[in-house]
Amino acid sequence: MTDCLFCRIVARRSAADIEYEDDEVLAFKDIYPKAPVHLLIIPKRHIASLATVEPADATVLGRCLLVARHLGEITGFAERGYRVAVNCGPEGGQVVYHVHFHFMAGRRAARA
Ligand code: AMP
Ligand code: ZN
Repeated sequence: MTDCLFCRIVARRSAADIEYEDDEVLAFKDIYPKAPVHLLIIPKRHIASLATVEPADATVLGRCLLVARHLGEITGFAERGYRVAVNCGPEGGQVVYHVHFHFMAGRRAARA
């Protein structure tokens, strides 16, 4: 999916401030942060939206949530807490059609 922004970030063809990477998951800073800590967690493999997930995607989506836990720990917010959110579809506020989990922490961790 060369026309997908987040696939380009995975392929290092677009710049991003990467905070975490493993073989299946990438996490990087949101370019327009809506909280003091605002990261995006994505499967490296292109999945357009929660509205198109398949049973075969369950493992990698679960791994994204384990990365959220890890990010909570490395950012120091594990105890205080944070929000993890997914926007889905036009009325759900989804702008980038490569599924992503917003990880937001800090006093303004409200909405993405
Ligand atoms: P959503 O509205 O849920 O699709 O979220 C898309 C998110 O991607 C927004 O919070 C944007 O600020 C963020 N975003 C857009 N372009 C970039 C980029 N090049 N690098 C990092 N984050 C981005
Ligand atoms: Zn993609």
